[in-house]
Amino acid sequence: MEKATQQQTKAHNSQLVLKTIYDQGKVSRAEVARLTRLTRTTVSDAVTDLRTKGLVEEVGYGERARGKAPILLSVVNNSRHLIGVDLASDEFRGAVVNLRGQIIRAVAFPISSPSGEAALALAYKLIDTLLASSDGPVLGIGLGTPGLIDTEAGIVLQAVNLDWQGLPLSQLLTDRYHLPIHLVNDSQAAALAEYIFGGGHSRRNLAVIKVGQGIGAGLVLEGQLFVGDGSSAGEIGHLMVADNGLVCRCGHTGCLETVASAGAIIRRAQTLARGSKESPLSLLAPEAMTLEALGAALEANDPVARQVTAEAGQYLGRAVAMLVSTLNVQHVLLIGSITALGTPLLKVIQQETRRQALATLAEATKIQFGHFGLDAVTLGASALLLTHELGLSFAR
Ligand SMILES: [Zn+2]
Repeated sequence: MEKATQQQTKAHNSQLVLKTIYDQGKVSRAEVARLTRLTRTTVSDAVTDLRTKGLVEEVGYGERARGKAPILLSVVNNSRHLIGVDLASDEFRGAVVNLRGQIIRAVAFPISSPSGEAALALAYKLIDTLLASSDGPVLGIGLGTPGLIDTEAGIVLQAVNLDWQGLPLSQLLTDRYHLPIHLVNDSQAAALAEYIFGGGHSRRNLAVIKVGQGIGAGLVLEGQLFVGDGSSAGEIGHLMVADNGLVCRCGHTGCLETVASAGAIIRRAQTLARGSKESPLSLLAPEAMTLEALGAALEANDPVARQVTAEAGQYLGRAVAMLVSTLNVQHVLLIGSITALGTPLLKVIQQETRRQALATLAEATKIQFGHFGLDAVTLGASALLLTHELGLSFAR
């Protein structure tokens, strides 16, 4: 064998062994050999290599089948730190995360100035703070950013809210921090978090729909984040769903974002409340109309809250029906600030999906809320490092 090929094989085996130990929690060398179908010698060599790197440790003895009780191996969860950054929320958020997605330190900074330069300076400040607070070896920095991204080139093509256009974010961060940098959009990051840290990887496919100020979907297909040919798979927020609709920030009219984003729902509720005699929401000051207030009003069966939820849910249901029909994905998770509307929203989306997609497909599809709330993007961004830097494959 060529030397390069030998080294590749060794690296591949080592990744496979690490992944197996990662998945099993605690496992003996013999069991790793059985699961990976590698020889015991190969497994032993890989384990030695992983122990030298501090990634794997021996953690006591397992049940003895016959003869000596086997030594159990486990991944050292804090042996590497991951930096995950979320630039797509109302504030810039980030965390130092361990290999299991447990947050060691979290930081958030309010976005004060709307200029692109200020946003970049704030991102630097956030990452500086996180790196300073990490006391372990850092594997790299993963980022979930809003807008259109060229994932491979690490360029933010367009993020309107941050005033970034053609920003070579990966290169800027590599020059500054000399660490591996990985970049996806916020919905894609969130999908990865749910898949890798949220127990999602018992399934093959997962769609995560994030609804906040924007709307986007992240897709994990066959265990891998699917970003599409131009890194923009899941840009469902700008599908036209409303005829004669409002003008969207993208320049088109009637986009899903104009009728089902957090801002759209709140504006619609304000309008409906103004004309309502029955809804206590009409007594609210316009700035007190929030998704939380609507969520609370739904529990009291408020007519305005019910109507806006029904309308937004129908539009979102159409988007879900489209995803389900195109991909036959059976697990759909809803995340983002819209989850404040709770189960009533979920019910409308489920009904609408059943109405707009083939019954067999829709009935086999579970639509639920995600697990991670505000941390989803941060965790998913950090998970990028598990796949890219440690070679942990979650593909099935
Ligand atoms: Zn649009």
